[in-house]
Amino acid sequence: MKDNNCIFCKIAAGEIPSATLYEDDDFRVILDQGPATKGHALILPKEHYRNLYDIDEETAAKAFLLAKKMVKKMTDVLGCDGYNVVQNNEEAAGQTVFHFHMHLIPRYKDDNSGFGWNTGELTDEVKNEILEKIK
Ligand code: 5GP
Ligand code: ZN
Repeated sequence: MKDNNCIFCKIAAGEIPSATLYEDDDFRVILDQGPATKGHALILPKEHYRNLYDIDEETAAKAFLLAKKMVKKMTDVLGCDGYNVVQNNEEAAGQTVFHFHMHLIPRYKDDNSGFGWNTGELTDEVKNEILEKIK
């Protein structure tokens, strides 16, 4: 299903032009308009899914296989030194466009992209609480 108000539906369908790196029946891979580093790309399914909570399993699996293919190819094209594959779900996690997408972020030695997070400490209390709840 498509969502008429969704910009990524329109880009994935080719209704809005984009810098397309790859396209098949299920996906379009485009360059991000606000790249974290040179070559930052987005995998967009052509069907509309809000995010990982919503996407069907087959498309999710295909998206990750495509991520592997693109990372391998783009590492050769860009000559980068590594990759972050990132996927945000809901506002609290930084999602700003509510159409499932995977970020493919090339990394270069000393690129100072600022991508990352502050590390905390896993306390026994929190560890035990989570392990108890997941049973
Ligand atoms: P999110 O924060 O939802 O995980 O990521 C949304 C991403 O989409 C951002 O990195 C932003 O730069 C990118 N973006 C938003 N609108 C457009 C657009 O119209 N074209 C392209 N190429 N990228 C977009
Ligand atoms: Zn959409």
